[in-house]
Amino acid sequence: MQVVVIGGGILGASAAWHLREKAEVTVVDAGAVGGLASRASLGWLNATFYLSEDHFRFRQSGINAWRDAKNKLPELPLSWRGTIIWATDDENIAISAQELLGWGYRVKELDQKTMRSLEPFLAKYPHSALLLPDEGYVNLSLAADMLLKASGAAVLSGITVQEIEVVNDRVTGVHTNHGIIKGDQVIVAAGTASGGFAKSFDIKLPMLDRPGLMLRTTPAPKTLSHICSTPDFELLQQNDGRFMLPTSPAHQSETSEEISFTPGNMASNAMGRLSEYFPHLNLSLEEIMVANRPVPGDELPVIGQAGPEGLYFLTMHSAATLGIIAGEYLANEILDNDTSNLKPFRPQRF
Ligand SMILES: Cc1cc2nc3c(=O)[nH]c(=O)nc-3n(C[C@H](O)[C@H](O)[C@H](O)COP(=O)(O)OP(=O)(O)OC[C@H]3O[C@@H](n4cnc5c(N)ncnc54)[C@H](O)[C@@H]3O)c2cc1C
Repeated sequence: MQVVVIGGGILGASAAWHLREKAEVTVVDAGAVGGLASRASLGWLNATFYLSEDHFRFRQSGINAWRDAKNKLPELPLSWRGTIIWATDDENIAISAQELLGWGYRVKELDQKTMRSLEPFLAKYPHSALLLPDEGYVNLSLAADMLLKASGAAVLSGITVQEIEVVNDRVTGVHTNHGIIKGDQVIVAAGTASGGFAKSFDIKLPMLDRPGLMLRTTPAPKTLSHICSTPDFELLQQNDGRFMLPTSPAHQSETSEEISFTPGNMASNAMGRLSEYFPHLNLSLEEIMVANRPVPGDELPVIGQAGPEGLYFLTMHSAATLGIIAGEYLANEILDNDTSNLKPFRPQRF
Protein backbone atom coordinates (compact mmCIF):
# COMPACT_ATOMS: atom_id res chain seq x y z
CA MET A 1 0.00 0.00 0.00
CA GLN A 2 1.37 3.43 -1.02
CA VAL A 3 -0.02 6.34 0.96
CA VAL A 4 0.51 10.03 0.18
CA VAL A 5 -0.20 12.37 3.10
CA ILE A 6 -0.81 16.03 2.24
CA GLY A 7 0.38 18.06 5.25
CA GLY A 8 3.18 17.56 7.76
CA GLY A 9 1.46 19.12 10.78
CA ILE A 10 0.47 17.03 13.77
CA LEU A 11 -2.36 15.26 11.95
CA GLY A 12 -0.33 14.23 8.89
CA ALA A 13 2.52 13.16 11.17
CA SER A 14 0.23 11.14 13.41
CA ALA A 15 -1.35 9.36 10.43
CA ALA A 16 2.11 8.56 9.03
CA TRP A 17 3.26 7.23 12.42
CA HIS A 18 0.23 4.98 12.82
CA LEU A 19 0.76 3.57 9.32
CA ARG A 20 4.46 2.83 9.96
CA GLU A 21 5.69 -0.59 8.85
CA LYS A 22 2.29 -1.33 7.29
CA ALA A 23 2.39 1.06 4.35
CA GLU A 24 4.88 2.98 2.25
CA VAL A 25 4.14 6.57 3.26
CA THR A 26 5.15 9.87 1.65
CA VAL A 27 4.35 13.10 3.47
CA VAL A 28 4.30 16.26 1.37
CA ASP A 29 4.20 19.73 2.89
CA ALA A 30 4.09 23.06 1.10
CA GLY A 31 6.09 24.62 3.92
CA ALA A 32 8.23 22.99 6.57
CA VAL A 33 7.22 19.95 8.62
CA GLY A 34 5.74 20.85 11.96
CA GLY A 35 2.70 22.50 10.41
CA LEU A 36 1.15 25.94 10.50
CA ALA A 37 -1.59 25.72 13.13
CA SER A 38 0.53 23.13 14.92
CA ARG A 39 3.39 25.56 15.26
CA ALA A 40 1.19 28.33 16.67
CA SER A 41 -0.71 26.01 19.00
CA LEU A 42 -0.64 26.32 22.76
CA GLY A 43 -0.42 22.52 22.86
CA TRP A 44 -2.77 22.20 25.81
CA LEU A 45 -4.04 18.63 26.09
CA ASN A 46 -7.48 18.92 27.61
CA ALA A 47 -10.97 17.50 27.59
CA THR A 48 -12.50 20.57 29.18
CA PHE A 49 -13.31 22.35 25.92
CA TYR A 50 -16.04 20.08 24.53
CA LEU A 51 -19.18 20.43 22.47
CA SER A 52 -20.98 17.18 23.31
CA GLU A 53 -20.43 14.08 25.38
CA ASP A 54 -19.09 12.24 22.30
CA HIS A 55 -16.63 15.08 21.80
CA PHE A 56 -15.61 14.99 25.47
CA ARG A 57 -15.06 11.18 25.36
CA PHE A 58 -13.02 11.53 22.20
CA ARG A 59 -10.85 14.19 23.86
CA GLN A 60 -10.43 12.03 26.94
CA SER A 61 -9.28 9.15 24.70
CA GLY A 62 -7.05 11.68 22.95
CA ILE A 63 -5.25 12.42 26.22
CA ASN A 64 -4.83 8.70 26.94
CA ALA A 65 -3.51 8.13 23.42
CA TRP A 66 -0.71 10.65 24.10
CA ARG A 67 0.19 8.66 27.24
CA ASP A 68 0.51 5.49 25.11
CA ALA A 69 2.50 7.35 22.46
CA LYS A 70 4.89 8.68 25.13
CA ASN A 71 5.46 5.11 26.35
CA LYS A 72 6.42 4.11 22.82
CA LEU A 73 8.41 7.28 22.08
CA PRO A 74 9.74 8.55 25.42
CA GLU A 75 11.44 11.54 23.80
CA LEU A 76 8.08 13.09 22.82
CA PRO A 77 8.07 16.67 24.20
CA LEU A 78 5.06 16.46 26.49
CA SER A 79 4.49 16.80 30.18
CA TRP A 80 1.55 15.98 32.46
CA ARG A 81 1.50 19.10 34.57
CA GLY A 82 -2.27 19.56 35.07
CA THR A 83 -4.37 22.67 34.56
CA ILE A 84 -5.47 25.20 37.14
CA ILE A 85 -8.52 27.04 35.95
CA TRP A 86 -10.12 30.18 37.29
CA ALA A 87 -12.20 32.64 35.38
CA THR A 88 -14.65 35.45 35.79
CA ASP A 89 -17.71 33.29 35.21
CA ASP A 90 -17.68 31.11 38.33
CA GLU A 91 -21.17 29.79 37.73
CA ASN A 92 -20.36 28.31 34.31
CA ILE A 93 -17.16 26.78 35.63
CA ALA A 94 -19.04 25.17 38.51
CA ILE A 95 -21.62 23.69 36.12
CA SER A 96 -19.06 22.20 33.79
CA ALA A 97 -17.05 20.90 36.76
CA GLN A 98 -20.12 18.95 37.92
CA GLU A 99 -20.64 17.56 34.42
CA LEU A 100 -16.98 16.57 34.12
CA LEU A 101 -17.03 14.85 37.52
CA GLY A 102 -20.17 12.98 36.47
CA TRP A 103 -18.33 11.71 33.40
CA GLY A 104 -15.46 10.45 35.55
CA TYR A 105 -12.97 13.26 34.77
CA ARG A 106 -10.77 14.22 37.71
CA VAL A 107 -11.53 17.73 38.98
CA LYS A 108 -10.38 19.07 42.35
CA GLU A 109 -11.46 22.28 44.04
CA LEU A 110 -8.62 24.47 45.26
CA ASP A 111 -8.82 27.14 47.91
CA GLN A 112 -6.47 30.08 47.70
CA LYS A 113 -4.03 28.65 50.23
CA THR A 114 -3.62 25.40 48.28
CA MET A 115 -3.32 27.29 45.06
CA ARG A 116 -0.56 29.46 46.53
CA SER A 117 1.31 26.32 47.51
CA LEU A 118 0.96 24.88 43.99
CA GLU A 119 1.91 28.11 42.19
CA PRO A 120 3.91 30.22 44.67
CA PHE A 121 5.17 32.87 42.23
CA LEU A 122 1.97 34.52 40.99
CA ALA A 123 1.35 38.13 42.01
CA LYS A 124 -2.44 37.72 42.09
CA TYR A 125 -4.66 34.81 43.12
CA PRO A 126 -8.36 34.06 42.83
CA HIS A 127 -10.43 33.04 45.90
CA SER A 128 -10.80 29.56 44.51
CA ALA A 129 -9.91 27.56 41.43
CA LEU A 130 -10.18 24.09 39.94
CA LEU A 131 -7.35 21.66 39.33
CA LEU A 132 -7.62 19.27 36.38
CA PRO A 133 -4.70 16.98 37.19
CA ASP A 134 -4.82 14.76 34.08
CA GLU A 135 -4.21 17.48 31.52
CA GLY A 136 -0.91 18.23 29.89
CA TYR A 137 1.16 20.15 27.44
CA VAL A 138 2.85 19.12 24.21
CA ASN A 139 5.20 21.07 21.99
CA LEU A 140 3.15 20.22 18.94
CA SER A 141 5.39 21.02 16.00
CA LEU A 142 8.36 19.31 17.68
CA ALA A 143 6.14 16.28 18.34
CA ALA A 144 5.06 16.25 14.67
CA ASP A 145 8.69 16.26 13.60
CA MET A 146 9.54 13.39 15.98
CA LEU A 147 6.55 11.31 14.88
CA LEU A 148 7.53 11.79 11.24
CA LYS A 149 11.11 10.71 11.92
CA ALA A 150 9.90 7.66 13.87
CA SER A 151 7.39 6.77 11.15
CA GLY A 152 10.06 6.09 8.54
CA ALA A 153 7.97 8.03 6.01
CA ALA A 154 9.58 9.86 3.11
CA VAL A 155 9.13 13.54 3.92
CA LEU A 156 9.08 16.20 1.21
CA SER A 157 8.90 19.79 2.40
CA GLY A 158 8.56 22.93 0.29
CA ILE A 159 6.42 21.04 -2.23
CA THR A 160 2.83 22.08 -2.86
CA VAL A 161 0.15 19.57 -3.84
CA GLN A 162 -1.91 21.18 -6.58
CA GLU A 163 -4.34 18.39 -7.38
CA ILE A 164 -5.26 14.87 -6.38
CA GLU A 165 -5.13 12.49 -9.32
CA VAL A 166 -8.10 10.16 -9.81
CA VAL A 167 -8.53 7.46 -12.46
CA ASN A 168 -11.77 5.46 -12.72
CA ASP A 169 -13.03 6.89 -9.42
CA ARG A 170 -9.91 5.79 -7.54
CA VAL A 171 -7.03 7.97 -6.38
CA THR A 172 -3.71 7.29 -8.06
CA GLY A 173 -1.51 10.01 -6.58
CA VAL A 174 -1.02 13.76 -6.34
CA HIS A 175 0.20 16.45 -8.74
CA THR A 176 2.66 18.85 -7.16
CA ASN A 177 4.57 21.89 -8.37
CA HIS A 178 7.48 19.45 -8.76
CA GLY A 179 5.80 16.56 -10.55
CA ILE A 180 3.57 13.60 -9.71
CA ILE A 181 3.79 11.45 -6.59
CA LYS A 182 2.04 8.13 -7.01
CA GLY A 183 -0.05 6.54 -4.27
CA ASP A 184 -3.10 4.32 -4.00
CA GLN A 185 -4.35 6.14 -0.89
CA VAL A 186 -4.25 9.90 -0.29
CA ILE A 187 -4.83 11.51 3.11
CA VAL A 188 -5.75 15.19 3.10
CA ALA A 189 -4.31 16.54 6.37
CA ALA A 190 -3.75 20.00 4.98
CA GLY A 191 -5.24 21.98 7.87
CA THR A 192 -7.22 25.00 6.68
CA ALA A 193 -6.52 24.02 3.05
CA SER A 194 -8.42 20.72 3.45
CA GLY A 195 -11.76 22.29 2.45
CA GLY A 196 -10.34 23.32 -0.93
CA PHE A 197 -9.30 19.74 -1.74
CA ALA A 198 -12.79 18.50 -0.77
CA LYS A 199 -14.40 21.14 -2.97
CA SER A 200 -12.48 19.92 -6.01
CA PHE A 201 -14.45 16.63 -5.66
CA ASP A 202 -17.77 18.32 -4.79
CA ILE A 203 -17.44 17.01 -1.25
CA LYS A 204 -18.90 19.35 1.35
CA LEU A 205 -16.32 20.22 3.97
CA PRO A 206 -17.03 23.76 5.18
CA MET A 207 -14.23 25.33 7.19
CA LEU A 208 -14.72 28.31 9.51
CA ASP A 209 -12.44 31.33 9.74
CA ARG A 210 -10.89 31.18 13.19
CA PRO A 211 -7.60 33.06 13.34
CA GLY A 212 -5.59 32.71 16.53
CA LEU A 213 -2.74 34.74 17.92
CA MET A 214 -0.10 33.10 20.08
CA LEU A 215 2.76 34.79 21.89
CA ARG A 216 6.06 33.36 22.95
CA THR A 217 8.31 35.22 25.39
CA THR A 218 12.01 35.13 26.01
CA PRO A 219 13.12 32.47 28.53
CA ALA A 220 12.71 33.11 32.25
CA PRO A 221 13.66 31.08 35.33
CA LYS A 222 11.24 28.28 36.18
CA THR A 223 8.22 30.08 37.62
CA LEU A 224 4.98 28.37 36.61
CA SER A 225 4.34 24.64 37.03
CA HIS A 226 0.81 24.16 35.68
CA ILE A 227 -1.12 25.26 32.64
CA CYS A 228 -3.15 28.17 34.00
CA SER A 229 -6.47 29.16 32.52
CA THR A 230 -6.91 32.71 33.85
CA PRO A 231 -9.55 35.37 33.15
CA ASP A 232 -7.01 37.01 30.82
CA PHE A 233 -5.56 34.13 28.84
CA GLU A 234 -4.34 30.58 29.09
CA LEU A 235 -0.73 30.47 30.11
CA LEU A 236 2.07 27.96 30.36
CA GLN A 237 5.81 27.95 30.71
CA GLN A 238 7.66 25.65 28.36
CA ASN A 239 10.49 23.47 29.61
CA ASP A 240 12.96 25.93 28.05
CA GLY A 241 11.57 28.72 30.27
CA ARG A 242 9.60 30.52 27.55
CA PHE A 243 6.00 31.48 28.31
CA MET A 244 3.32 30.73 25.72
CA LEU A 245 0.04 32.58 25.80
CA PRO A 246 -2.78 33.27 23.40
CA THR A 247 -3.96 36.87 23.54
CA SER A 248 -7.47 36.01 24.77
CA PRO A 249 -9.08 33.84 27.46
CA ALA A 250 -10.75 30.49 26.63
CA HIS A 251 -8.88 30.63 23.33
CA GLN A 252 -10.11 27.26 22.12
CA SER A 253 -13.72 28.39 22.02
CA GLU A 254 -12.91 31.73 20.39
CA THR A 255 -15.36 32.48 17.58
CA SER A 256 -14.07 35.73 16.11
CA GLU A 257 -13.54 35.54 12.37
CA GLU A 258 -10.82 38.14 12.24
CA ILE A 259 -8.13 39.62 14.40
CA SER A 260 -9.66 42.98 15.24
CA PHE A 261 -6.55 44.95 16.16
CA THR A 262 -3.06 44.72 14.80
CA PRO A 263 -1.20 41.70 16.18
CA GLY A 264 1.43 44.06 17.64
CA ASN A 265 -1.21 45.97 19.65
CA MET A 266 -2.83 42.80 20.90
CA ALA A 267 0.54 41.40 21.85
CA SER A 268 1.62 44.44 23.85
CA ASN A 269 -1.74 44.51 25.61
CA ALA A 270 -1.38 40.83 26.58
CA MET A 271 2.23 41.34 27.65
CA GLY A 272 1.05 44.17 29.92
CA ARG A 273 -1.45 41.82 31.54
CA LEU A 274 1.19 39.11 31.80
CA SER A 275 3.47 41.44 33.77
CA GLU A 276 0.65 41.85 36.34
CA TYR A 277 0.94 38.12 37.08
CA PHE A 278 4.76 38.17 37.19
CA PRO A 279 5.98 41.72 37.99
CA HIS A 280 9.32 40.33 39.15
CA LEU A 281 10.16 38.77 35.78
CA ASN A 282 11.77 40.66 32.97
CA LEU A 283 9.81 39.15 30.07
CA SER A 284 10.05 40.29 26.45
CA LEU A 285 8.23 39.09 23.39
CA GLU A 286 10.19 36.67 21.27
CA GLU A 287 7.58 35.83 18.62
CA ILE A 288 4.00 36.68 17.66
CA MET A 289 2.42 33.77 15.77
CA VAL A 290 -0.80 34.16 13.81
CA ALA A 291 -2.43 31.05 12.35
CA ASN A 292 -5.88 30.00 11.30
CA ARG A 293 -7.29 27.13 13.28
CA PRO A 294 -8.61 24.38 11.02
CA VAL A 295 -12.21 24.34 12.26
CA PRO A 296 -14.82 22.30 10.33
CA GLY A 297 -18.27 23.95 9.98
CA ASP A 298 -19.83 22.25 13.01
CA GLU A 299 -16.56 22.52 14.98
CA LEU A 300 -16.27 18.74 15.31
CA PRO A 301 -13.43 16.63 13.89
CA VAL A 302 -13.55 15.30 10.33
CA ILE A 303 -11.99 11.86 9.95
CA GLY A 304 -12.45 9.31 7.20
CA GLN A 305 -13.01 8.35 3.61
CA ALA A 306 -15.05 10.52 1.24
CA GLY A 307 -15.29 10.85 -2.55
CA PRO A 308 -13.21 8.59 -4.80
CA GLU A 309 -11.90 5.31 -3.42
CA GLY A 310 -8.66 5.80 -1.50
CA LEU A 311 -9.30 9.45 -0.55
CA TYR A 312 -9.39 10.34 3.17
CA PHE A 313 -9.82 13.57 5.13
CA LEU A 314 -8.27 14.31 8.50
CA THR A 315 -8.84 17.80 9.81
CA MET A 316 -10.00 19.37 13.06
CA HIS A 317 -9.55 21.98 15.71
CA SER A 318 -7.95 20.81 18.98
CA ALA A 319 -5.61 18.46 17.21
CA ALA A 320 -3.10 19.05 19.97
CA THR A 321 -5.43 17.03 22.15
CA LEU A 322 -6.83 14.84 19.35
CA GLY A 323 -3.86 14.42 17.03
CA ILE A 324 -2.69 11.01 18.16
CA ILE A 325 -6.07 9.33 18.53
CA ALA A 326 -7.38 10.78 15.26
CA GLY A 327 -4.37 9.46 13.33
CA GLU A 328 -4.85 6.05 14.96
CA TYR A 329 -8.53 5.87 14.04
CA LEU A 330 -7.84 6.91 10.47
CA ALA A 331 -5.10 4.26 10.17
CA ASN A 332 -7.60 1.66 11.46
CA GLU A 333 -9.96 2.62 8.66
CA ILE A 334 -7.26 2.55 5.97
CA LEU A 335 -5.63 -0.70 7.09
CA ASP A 336 -8.58 -2.70 8.42
CA ASN A 337 -11.68 -0.90 7.16
CA ASP A 338 -12.52 -0.35 10.84
CA THR A 339 -14.72 2.73 11.20
CA SER A 340 -16.31 1.71 14.50
CA ASN A 341 -15.03 4.75 16.41
CA LEU A 342 -15.67 7.32 13.75
CA LYS A 343 -19.42 7.62 13.48
CA PRO A 344 -19.88 11.19 14.88
CA PHE A 345 -16.91 12.47 12.92
CA ARG A 346 -17.28 11.20 9.36
CA PRO A 347 -17.13 13.75 6.53
CA GLN A 348 -20.48 12.56 5.11
CA ARG A 349 -22.40 14.40 7.85
CA PHE A 350 -22.22 17.73 5.97
C1 LIG B 1 -3.41 29.89 18.15
C2 LIG B 1 -3.81 28.44 18.26
C3 LIG B 1 -3.88 27.82 19.50
C4 LIG B 1 -4.27 26.49 19.61
N1 LIG B 1 -4.29 25.90 20.84
C5 LIG B 1 -4.66 24.61 20.95
C6 LIG B 1 -4.62 23.95 22.21
O1 LIG B 1 -4.20 24.52 23.21
N2 LIG B 1 -5.05 22.66 22.28
C7 LIG B 1 -5.50 21.98 21.19
O2 LIG B 1 -5.88 20.81 21.31
N3 LIG B 1 -5.49 22.57 19.96
C8 LIG B 1 -5.08 23.85 19.82
N4 LIG B 1 -5.07 24.44 18.60
C9 LIG B 1 -5.51 23.68 17.44
C10 LIG B 1 -4.41 22.77 16.90
O3 LIG B 1 -3.18 23.43 16.93
C11 LIG B 1 -4.77 22.36 15.47
O4 LIG B 1 -5.99 21.66 15.49
C12 LIG B 1 -3.69 21.46 14.85
O5 LIG B 1 -2.43 22.08 14.89
C13 LIG B 1 -4.06 21.14 13.41
O6 LIG B 1 -3.03 20.36 12.87
P1 LIG B 1 -2.98 20.05 11.32
O7 LIG B 1 -1.89 19.09 11.09
O8 LIG B 1 -4.34 19.72 10.83
O9 LIG B 1 -2.70 21.49 10.64
P2 LIG B 1 -1.36 22.30 10.38
O10 LIG B 1 -0.45 22.26 11.52
O11 LIG B 1 -1.78 23.64 9.89
O12 LIG B 1 -0.66 21.48 9.21
C14 LIG B 1 -1.21 21.46 7.90
C15 LIG B 1 -0.05 21.41 6.95
O13 LIG B 1 -0.58 21.24 5.63
C16 LIG B 1 0.29 21.90 4.75
N5 LIG B 1 -0.41 22.15 3.48
C17 LIG B 1 -1.53 22.90 3.28
N6 LIG B 1 -1.86 22.89 1.97
C18 LIG B 1 -0.93 22.12 1.34
C19 LIG B 1 -0.73 21.75 -0.03
N7 LIG B 1 -1.55 22.16 -1.02
N8 LIG B 1 0.33 20.97 -0.33
C20 LIG B 1 1.17 20.53 0.66
N9 LIG B 1 1.03 20.87 1.95
C21 LIG B 1 -0.01 21.65 2.28
C22 LIG B 1 0.65 23.19 5.47
O14 LIG B 1 1.87 23.74 4.97
C23 LIG B 1 0.77 22.72 6.92
O15 LIG B 1 2.11 22.44 7.28
C24 LIG B 1 -4.63 25.77 18.45
C25 LIG B 1 -4.52 26.36 17.20
C26 LIG B 1 -4.10 27.69 17.09
C27 LIG B 1 -3.94 28.31 15.73
